Formats: sequence, structure tokens, C-alpha cells
Amino acid sequence: MTHAIVIGGGATGVGVARDLSLRGVDVTLLERGGLGAGTTGRSHGVLHSGARYAAVDPEGAADCIRENRILREIAGTAVSETGGLFVQLPDDPNDAFERRAAACEELGISVERLDPKTAREREPELPSDVERALAVPDGVVSPGRLVAVTADAARRNGARIRTDTPVTDVLVDGDRVVGVETADGRLRADYVVNATGAWAGEIVSLAGIELRMAPTKGAMVAVSEPDVGSVLNRSRRPSDGDIAVPYRGGVVLGTTSTPVEDPDDVATDGATVERLLGEGEALLPGVAEAPIDRVYCGVRPLYGGDRDGRSAPRGFRLLDHTEEGRSGFLSIVGGKLTTHRLMAEAVSDHVCGVLGIDEPCRTHEIPLPAAEGTRFDELCEQFDVGGPADETFTFR
Ligand SMILES: Cc1cc2nc3c(=O)[nH]c(=O)nc-3n(C[C@H](O)[C@H](O)[C@H](O)COP(=O)(O)OP(=O)(O)OC[C@H]3O[C@@H](n4cnc5c(N)ncnc54)[C@H](O)[C@@H]3O)c2cc1C
Repeated sequence: MTHAIVIGGGATGVGVARDLSLRGVDVTLLERGGLGAGTTGRSHGVLHSGARYAAVDPEGAADCIRENRILREIAGTAVSETGGLFVQLPDDPNDAFERRAAACEELGISVERLDPKTAREREPELPSDVERALAVPDGVVSPGRLVAVTADAARRNGARIRTDTPVTDVLVDGDRVVGVETADGRLRADYVVNATGAWAGEIVSLAGIELRMAPTKGAMVAVSEPDVGSVLNRSRRPSDGDIAVPYRGGVVLGTTSTPVEDPDDVATDGATVERLLGEGEALLPGVAEAPIDRVYCGVRPLYGGDRDGRSAPRGFRLLDHTEEGRSGFLSIVGGKLTTHRLMAEAVSDHVCGVLGIDEPCRTHEIPLPAAEGTRFDELCEQFDVGGPADETFTFR
């Protein structure tokens, strides 16, 4: 049986493990910590509709709305259909609103224009000077629940999911990658998938080649009030402090974009927290005085673009390393939590194409196993799930 190794147990890695195992490939996934311990467990958890990117990156937005619809169908309790609002405040440019609305309509993302009264009826915590709002089909996804049920699905198809197992070396024979090394010894494979996101450059260097990532760090502040129902965005180009995501009766305020050399650099400072609270105050008056539950950072697995990261492409890239003299080895970088299934499909199509396996993708039509209550707790324990985002995403 064909054996593939997937390095990295974030959303992308578990998605690849599920997809390949459904196509009959024998899969071993190796994660250095717990599942979702990287960027996946340190995100806002927005199930993007694509509205945030529609005017600046229509291709990425089209991926988001397609995957948004699929995950609503298959991901069950991992997704909450909150809806989202792009809110125009007096400081926000007038033309941005209509540009976003038109771009969404072009892409088939449903939008509803709300006057100030209707916007405040829907979200009473919005400020009295709100000028208008655009309702879009954003949602919220629990990163922990998503990785746990996806890994569970892969395991039911025969995949082995090994947490707390860092890959320490990549084995090369001539011009082929033939396996990896961990503390438990050497493991050989017909194909090795590098799904380590912001850490992808480190794994590639173990194979003796180079991949220069452009990771940027984003900070988030979770506060325990006010109680909002929808994902709230400012109606302007993506910028610091322009998003508030509902959770358990409070909100997660995000985010920032700071280039980092080391993807393990997830520290933040008081000034950043103050800035996020200050920006949040414009969208939700009083939020800056709310009790802070937690502060955390995640590092975006960006590749290409300039170093400030705001202009780096948010789409994903599949990098087959054959031309660099390392066949049987690819890296999947960039993308979003929302598009992880599509990324996994692209990877699995590629791997199956190389290995001569003629099986179609089925991950878009097969529901993920349900995981609520004690079942979810059990999976979290088995897969060591528990990133900082997950502590905030207990759905009501
Ligand atoms: C601040 C912030 C907010 C975000 N908000 C959203 C959002 O609201 N919605 C959205 O759709 N996307 C969001 N994103 C993007 C999204 O979180 C990421 O694109 C996605 O989670 C990346 O998943 P991944 O599996 O590719 O990478 P990761 O989740 O980082 O997984 C890579 C894994 O590889 C492991 N690894 C590293 N080295 C090794 C090794 N040597 N051996 C074994 N394992 C190793 C790591 O521990 C990690 O678990 C956000 C990102 C950030 C930074």
C-alpha cells in the first residue's frame, strides 16, 4: 500500500490526512505538539464568506465562499452560522462600502445593505454614529473542534495521527525524499507532505533546499463582553484592529500584522493590547473597559509579497520540490483556516497524480463525524487539542 507522511497537524495537515486516507492511501501524520498547536489554534476562527477580500483578492474570496458553503454542510458543530456585518463608521471611506458590495455580488456572495436603524436593531452594541452596514454570510469555526473531528475522520479511514512527535530530519536518497526521522526512529514513505505552515521553511531546510517564508504575527484580545451575535468588520481595507468575533457572550478583538523571523515568536506587549482595545472601542463603545479573558498571538504562514505582510497573497501555494532535486516532497503554504479543505484537496490531487492513484476527492460531500460534549472532550485529550483560540470558542 502506498504510504504518505504528512508533517504538521494544523487544519491543513489533518485535512490532507483525511483526504488521502479516503483515496486509499496509508497515511501517517506527525505533529510536534498537539493538533492545532500552531497557527490553527491561534486564529480568530472566522469562517470567511470572502467579503473581507472580495475587492482586493477576488480569487481568494471565491475560494472562501465555496469553502464556507461546504463547511456549513459538512462540519456540523464545528461551525456556527453567526453571519457578519461590515460596518461603516464616520471615519471609514464612503466608496469602500459600495466597492465591497459590488465585488461580493460579482462573486455570488449574498449581501444585504442595512440602514443605521436596522444595523443597530441587529447588533444593538454598535455605536450610534454607524452610517450603514453590509450583512454577509460570515460564520465562526472552532479550530479545535474542526481539527479534532477531521483527524478522527482520517483515523477512521486508517490514518495514524501521532502528536508530540517532531520531525527532526528529512531523509533524502539521490534526488528523492524517502522519509523522515523522529525521536522514535526513521520512517519511510512514498511521498512526504510538508504542511507545517509558518514552519515550512525549517522542514524544507532539513531536506537541504530553501523556502523563504514571510510570516507575520497577529495579536488578539478576548474580552468577556459585550454580547454580540455577528462577526463585525470595519468597512475599510484590512488594517489593524478592524475585526471583532463573537464567542461565549464576549468578543475576540483582532488583529495586527508584524513581520517575524521566528514563527515561535508569539509574545505581545501592553501597547499592542491597548491599540486593539482602542480600535475596538470605535466599533463597540465600552469594549475597552471590558474584563480581558485572554491575549494571544498567531503567526500567518505567508509566502511571497512584501515583508509587512498586509500585501502578501492570502491564497495558498503548492510547491512541488522536484525541480530543486527533491521529488516525492511538496510544501503547502499560505491559505486560511476557511480554505484548509480546498488546500488539502489540491495537495491530495497532486500526490495521487504523482503516485498514479486514480481516486477522486470526496471530502466535500462526506460529513465530518459529530463531536459534542464528552465525545469532543475525549478527542481533545486523545489529540492533545487546546490552542488559545479554542478556550474562547465554546459555542452557545
Ligand atoms: C492572527 C491570525 C488570525 C487568523 N484568523 C483567521 C480567521 O479568522 N479565519 C481564517 O480562515 N483564517 C485565519 N487565519 C489564518 C489561519 O489560521 C491559517 O492560515 C491556518 O490555520 C494555517 O493552518 P496550517 O495547518 O497550514 O498551519 P498550522 O496550524 O500552523 O499547522 C502547522 C503545524 O506544523 C507543526 N510543526 C511545525 N514544525 C514541525 C515539525 N518539525 N514536526 C512536526 N510538526 C511540526 C506545528 O506545530 C503546527 O501545528 C489567521 C491567522 C492569524 C495569524
